[in-house]
Amino acid sequence: MRIIKVAVLPGDGIGPEITAQAVAVLHRLASQGCFSLEMDEAPVGGAGYRASGHPLPEATLRLCKSADAILFGAVGDFSLDTLPRELRPEQAILGLRKELSLFANLRPAIIYPELAGASTLKPEVVSGLDLLILRELTGDIYFGQPRGVRTLENGEREGFDTMVYRESEIIRIGRVAFDAARKRGRRLCSVDKANVLETTQLWRDVMTALGKEYPDVELSHMYVDNAAMQLLKNPKQFDVLVTGNMFGDILSDEASMLTGSIGMLPSASLDANNKGLYEPIHGSAPDIAGKDLANPLATILSAAMMLRYSFDMSAEADRIEAAVRKVLADGLATGDIDRPGSKRVGTAAMGSAVVAALGVQ
Ligand code: NAD
Repeated sequence: MRIIKVAVLPGDGIGPEITAQAVAVLHRLASQGCFSLEMDEAPVGGAGYRASGHPLPEATLRLCKSADAILFGAVGDFSLDTLPRELRPEQAILGLRKELSLFANLRPAIIYPELAGASTLKPEVVSGLDLLILRELTGDIYFGQPRGVRTLENGEREGFDTMVYRESEIIRIGRVAFDAARKRGRRLCSVDKANVLETTQLWRDVMTALGKEYPDVELSHMYVDNAAMQLLKNPKQFDVLVTGNMFGDILSDEASMLTGSIGMLPSASLDANNKGLYEPIHGSAPDIAGKDLANPLATILSAAMMLRYSFDMSAEADRIEAAVRKVLADGLATGDIDRPGSKRVGTAAMGSAVVAALGVQ
């Protein structure tokens, strides 16, 4: 039987509660003979700092390097916000991306029929929405050099950053995007600002050339300002969107809010070999931590993405997603997705319902 080696990093706030539910889901599939699970847990973020003085302790990083995939809860602890920036909990994510070369961030935005009313947009605009945003994660203006704040001759201070992409970096994310489009509706929209920025003119040229290798995928291009507008006006026109780090940062948050349910959205960050880190898009939600109030579905759906992308187990991923759809159709809801007529449950009960929906084999 296939052995899958997963590092579990629960993190802070609601992290431990929600990852426990995703772990229970993976155990259920393992008990049904889908795979053999090797799982180890390690502290990260504020928990990492408290355990060994660093948000990404060396032992945690070692564990992640030796695993095939990482299931990540959330990090963030306001009581540690006065620490120097490099010791703050959120630095763990940046450290993991860099150390593991996780360059491709995949964020699906899906509207479940029961939750169409949760969006701030009209139900007819969003119902049936199913789009995937691919954001490049390790390049662009966030990492380009030089950067800094300098003092000019007249004494005025000036801040500066460098937007930079190499051809090879664009090809790398482009391939992930074309491959993802092939597994979906075969339409890819590449987002840039080629009318103003040289870097993104190169982005457009490289994507266009790469598109010739994927004649079965319909490639289009859109300027980022228009894409921001189109996501609100007619989001269902998109299948897969691919863009750079900064534009993707903004557009992926915008797209996630089309669904109106932060507790429902998973994400994946992949390296060149499909090793990945899987996490809900939300943070550590300290306001509801430890109260059995958090929605574990985004983390459970992250585990489904893990099976799909890192282990090529689409059938098992489909089963988890179907189990989530079933509990929603049965009317179960945590507070964030509560709606008229739904049955309010806590984190643990929601997780158990998904496990139960996977049945006994
Ligand atoms: P947040 O996502 O933690 O919470 C925003 C709001 O959404 C809160 O009201 C929270 O209760 C609610 N919420 C979030 N997840 C939920 C869930 N699963 N179920 C029900 N409700 C949920 O964002 P924030 O409050 O701005 O940040 C809190 C901490 O998380 C900060 O320290 C921040 O830096 C960190 N953060 C971490 C990540 C990450 O780990 N990837 C991402 C974003 C923010």
